[in-house]
Amino acid sequence: MGIESTGCTEEQQSGPGIRATIIPEGDHPIRPADLDREALKVLYRLRDAGFSGYLVGGGVRDLYLGKQPKDFDISTNARPGQLRRLFRNSRTIGRRFRLVQVFFRGNKIIEVSTLRSQSEYGRQDTRVLPANNTFGTLEEDAFRRDLTINSLFYEIDTRTIIDYVGGVDDLNNGIVRIVGDPDVRITRDPVRILRALRHAARTGFVIDHNSYRAITSHRDKLNLCPASRIRDEIIKDLVSGYSRAWADLCIQSRVFFTLFPFYDQAGENGLDELGAILSVIDRLQGKNGATPVRLPDYMLMALLLYPWLQRELDLLQRELKGGGYRLLFNDIRQALDESICGRLNIKRSGKEAMTMLFVNMPNFHRYQEKKSWPNWLRKKSYFNDCARFSAIINEARGGDPVSTDLFAGPPRPDTVRPVNRQGGGGRGGRGGNPSFSDKKGGVFGLRAGRFSGC
Ligand code: ATP
Ligand code: MG
Repeated sequence: MGIESTGCTEEQQSGPGIRATIIPEGDHPIRPADLDREALKVLYRLRDAGFSGYLVGGGVRDLYLGKQPKDFDISTNARPGQLRRLFRNSRTIGRRFRLVQVFFRGNKIIEVSTLRSQSEYGRQDTRVLPANNTFGTLEEDAFRRDLTINSLFYEIDTRTIIDYVGGVDDLNNGIVRIVGDPDVRITRDPVRILRALRHAARTGFVIDHNSYRAITSHRDKLNLCPASRIRDEIIKDLVSGYSRAWADLCIQSRVFFTLFPFYDQAGENGLDELGAILSVIDRLQGKNGATPVRLPDYMLMALLLYPWLQRELDLLQRELKGGGYRLLFNDIRQALDESICGRLNIKRSGKEAMTMLFVNMPNFHRYQEKKSWPNWLRKKSYFNDCARFSAIINEARGGDPVSTDLFAGPPRPDTVRPVNRQGGGGRGGRGGNPSFSDKKGGVFGLRAGRFSGC
């Protein structure tokens, strides 16, 4: 599905000849030693070969704020072909905008991109762009980025920060601001709405007034974006450790009801319960110093849906005897189909895994309250998964804190096997173990390894 175009290109946003502010080493907190060793190696190799190299994006933002960056992205004026020759242990990825991944020991990857004149997001055609049509200057690269705090460059030789967009002032003043005209930038790529909310949630910064107004007025344009892209963005926020703050901002701006329209009926109690669940998830993600627990993406999504589905189907009160289990199973599948599966392009295997968590909730809830599990339940292949799910909900409802020990041990390959396993379990040759697939894609189309373990 395409994205509405305003006819204004990304380049027109920048305006030529804008002077950058150069912040010398004495006036900012970033030191070369803060950079990861491999990122430094790449930067020095680029310099020694006569190219410029900059640390960009979240790496600069997080180091400036004294946080450990998730990844170190590097931009350079070297073209992908030159990069491939410079770094023999590398490969090129991406169709429209080629990116070079440089490999290091221990599965370490540093991504290096050539400075660009326009964003890879928000273009409607899927043709591979001619190379000379995409590369740009440092200034153009700054203006194609999403937020001012994400548009800074750190230059290793001079140890300076280069700022075309007022990002350093915004970092100092705690402001999330969309680069350029927010109406245009959001219309070109509505996912920037989610990125602004994400970074406001993670940093605790306030969203600039003009950007916030554009976010609220264009929020329904998110429906124009590819479902899988939105889904991946949501999962990133659920595992960020700041999912509660993210949801609060989404609810406040009503973006939440664009993403999940069915929650409009859940009322304040439903949203409060959701907030409590997300706080538990944040704690398990290592916020407040706890050991991080990797929750699989289907469980995160099921937790997000739980307060709504509980109200919709009165889950906890359902009788499972007789044909009750099958009836509930069908109700859950239908509710998931109508609410979320199409909307976020969730694969069949992901839906099965979520259904399994929900359909067993009446039983698990009952035994959770008694604080003892009968043997017949312990033996079930889905026991670990459902016990974890139920414990998180129990804590959110005021019960005992979930013990991280519950998540110890390797993932059980059979924990999320679909109940409905006619024909050998699952479709499309994926077998009965879809949620722990090591194939690129995983259940929600996310790269395995990042989200699949539990
Ligand atoms: P983190 O990696 O910590 O989640 P990040 O800001 O580094 O945050 P990435 O997804 O790694 O996020 O993106 C790297 C950079 O690419 C961003 O900092 C931003 O400059 C740019 N970027 C990402 N998405 C967009 C977008 N939709 N439009 C414009 N620029 C973008
Ligand atoms: Mg990043």
